Amino acid sequence: MLSQFDIIIIGAGPSGLAAALTLRKSELKVALIDKSEFPREKICGDGLCDRSINTIKAISEDYYNELLKHKDILPISNALLAYNKNSVKLSMPMFGYTMPRVEFDNFLMSKVKTEASNVYVFENCIVSDIEKQNNSVLVKTLSGNYKAPIVIVANGFRSKISQKLSGYISDKEAHAVGIRAYYKGIRDIEADTVEFHLNKKYFPGYLWIFPMQNGISNVGYGYHLSHKVKSENAPKQLLQEWIDSDELLAARFKHSQRISDIKGALIPVNHLKFNLAGDNYMIAGDAGALVDPITGGGIGNGLLSGYLAALQAIECFSKNDFSSKEMTNYQNSVIARMKKDIAFRFKVREVITKLPIILNVFFWLMKFDKLRKYLINWHTGTKKK
Ligand SMILES: Cc1cc2nc3c(=O)[nH]c(=O)nc-3n(C[C@H](O)[C@H](O)[C@H](O)COP(=O)(O)OP(=O)(O)OC[C@H]3O[C@@H](n4cnc5c(N)ncnc54)[C@H](O)[C@@H]3O)c2cc1C
Repeated sequence: MLSQFDIIIIGAGPSGLAAALTLRKSELKVALIDKSEFPREKICGDGLCDRSINTIKAISEDYYNELLKHKDILPISNALLAYNKNSVKLSMPMFGYTMPRVEFDNFLMSKVKTEASNVYVFENCIVSDIEKQNNSVLVKTLSGNYKAPIVIVANGFRSKISQKLSGYISDKEAHAVGIRAYYKGIRDIEADTVEFHLNKKYFPGYLWIFPMQNGISNVGYGYHLSHKVKSENAPKQLLQEWIDSDELLAARFKHSQRISDIKGALIPVNHLKFNLAGDNYMIAGDAGALVDPITGGGIGNGLLSGYLAALQAIECFSKNDFSSKEMTNYQNSVIARMKKDIAFRFKVREVITKLPIILNVFFWLMKFDKLRKYLINWHTGTKKK
């Protein structure tokens, strides 16, 4: 069986779903292929930054308004940073939201299924290979082959498809480890505050506590593989080790209950390399390693890159040009929107890792209102773009 489409999107995470929804009003025939069946779980901290929400708004004001009324979303207006018994709380009107990924991704998928009649969804469909042909791409799956002049690769971390198309294989050093579990009954949780706990031993990683609806907290940690953590424990046990090693955290978790398994995954943080486009293809989200090198957050950049890839695809069809030169416009718009911010965060991570004492200075400076407000304005400004 061979099915012909205008655009094939591989992967229905935030990146692929944003691309599919952006294409819903085009006349183009789109295939959205995912190996899972929705709703499906995704290991995540469940934190949605304002870039995530703003991109949904750019796709549709109605989806944005509906999402903000969703029963599982929780607005966040503060971030608490803690290190060495010091802490600082940064208040921002729209710091972000939390929402379980299973619900967030399914919300977007349900919009595709009900409102994008030009998008054909193929679930339980594993893409096994891809082949460039004369001005088109052949996508091979176990249940048949699909062909189109444009493929948007959005199938997440360690995408063999993106590696095959771009020839770029990121090294292990460019990855972080992320581990998370759900808890109930942690003491002193504030429902509008996400917490980031730093610990010298695990630099430049951090442990997060993100409040969710119904008194649940998403707790996890991430650290960068290029900076080896000295621990006898396997990554999953390290979560408890980390909590126990911090007197204040240990006391707060003492009577808590873990209500899920501890699960982990690797995170492809961006190392200022962008290999996102070529003849007949564009790569979005984690498949292109578009993850924040400090926080490990990639939903916002995934959604934005999926949205930009879809806009470029529409442009390509209007010109009937699917060449690398045309597709590179997509890569350039990703670079224009993300590179400066990623470069800054990359630098900050390097400096903190080499000179942790800077954190003591940072926490001291944050006592001053004016400096705290400056940091908040900078964060809000860069993330809104
Ligand atoms: C522990 C952890 C915590 C995190 N916390 C946060 C957070 O709080 N906030 C944040 O912004 N980011 C967070 N991230 C990062 C975030 O999860 C990713 O950046 C985001 O999911 C990227 O979206 P994506 O659409 O590019 O890829 P994904 O969400 O990974 O989606 C890829 C899709 O492709 C499908 N797929 C894969 N292979 C194939 C195949 N061969 N054929 C067909 N389909 C395929 C998968 O089923 C999946 O649906 C976290 C990551 C981890 C590991």
